[in-house]
Amino acid sequence: MKIAFFDTKPYDKLTFAPLAEKFGYEITFFDERLTPETAAKANGFDATCSFVNDDVKAEAVQTLKDGGVKVMLLRCAGFDSVDLDKAKECGIPVLRVPAYSPDSVAEHAAALLQTVNRKTHLGFNKTRNFNFNIDGLMGIALVGKTAGVIGTGKIGKCSVNILRGFGMKVIAYDAFPDKSSDIEYVDLDELYARSDVITLHCPLFPATKHMINKESIAKMKDGVLLVNSSRGGLINTEDLLEAVKAGKFRGVGLDVCEKEHEYFFEDRSNITDKDPVLNELLQDDRVVLTGHQAFFTEEAMTAIAEVTLNNLKAFIDGAELVNEVK
Ligand code: NAD
Repeated sequence: MKIAFFDTKPYDKLTFAPLAEKFGYEITFFDERLTPETAAKANGFDATCSFVNDDVKAEAVQTLKDGGVKVMLLRCAGFDSVDLDKAKECGIPVLRVPAYSPDSVAEHAAALLQTVNRKTHLGFNKTRNFNFNIDGLMGIALVGKTAGVIGTGKIGKCSVNILRGFGMKVIAYDAFPDKSSDIEYVDLDELYARSDVITLHCPLFPATKHMINKESIAKMKDGVLLVNSSRGGLINTEDLLEAVKAGKFRGVGLDVCEKEHEYFFEDRSNITDKDPVLNELLQDDRVVLTGHQAFFTEEAMTAIAEVTLNNLKAFIDGAELVNEVK
């Protein structure tokens, strides 16, 4: 089995190369993302392995099909990067890693929350310059406050547990509430109105695109702390910037952003055409953005490689494809 591995980073090689050898698979690592322009690189390969910001639209899928690719492996949970209808039409199964370490993502969301709340990023900048003045660094105690969790799937449930660990009262909204859980579900308007902290853990669908916008922000408490470790498209960035400038938020912690496919996973510090809205947002001390690293733990990377290559094994063996995106 020959795998064309796209959007390769050094840490991918570290986890995938030794494991692929054990499975007896041959991997060729390409630096480029999988896009309509690069898809022909997979000609003659049996499988592709791609990541969150690859762009596998219909044209790319057709090129893969024409080049002999039989299966597409996603080394991530989200599958919004692939035209699934086209993949189905071409008879190419798309196999993903539905859960690799939901705790890692939820723990990072909590780190972002406490960074923007307790301003540790600003404290760090000060103390490394031997400035030990704490003026301007006051946060709030989370104990006794209310957290609103949007999306209570695998990651959202980990978040619920972490936030309860802080002594917070947790309320939640999910389009499909888990009635077997002890989570208190409310509608979105109530969640916005009551929450001191709002953390997003639902997928990006047409129905959730820009769910955080001018109107929903207006329903939130002044001084709310907002965290998004899910997908950038959940938030209308222009509306967010406007509200940040107006002082609506105590803090905003982001691991994802709308334009991330243009920038993330590379050093872009020298580019001159930075997106002005994103750039202005990032200059505000109340906003912290990490570059889609919430998943990035040793445990998650190991699990991603194992599940991805086991997905391929199941395909080769003709076994049930439990991780197929349908
Ligand atoms: P999941 O499928 O287990 O849970 C998603 C939850 O969202 C489900 O409970 C579902 O019912 C709910 N949902 C669906 N539609 C909704 C809607 N319209 N409104 C509210 N809730 C809705 O997924 P998960 O593993 O918990 O992952 C959640 C999201 O986190 C993923 O979709 C992905 O975008 C993101 N993610 C980010 C990283 C990262 O590194 N930042 C890593 C993994 C996943």
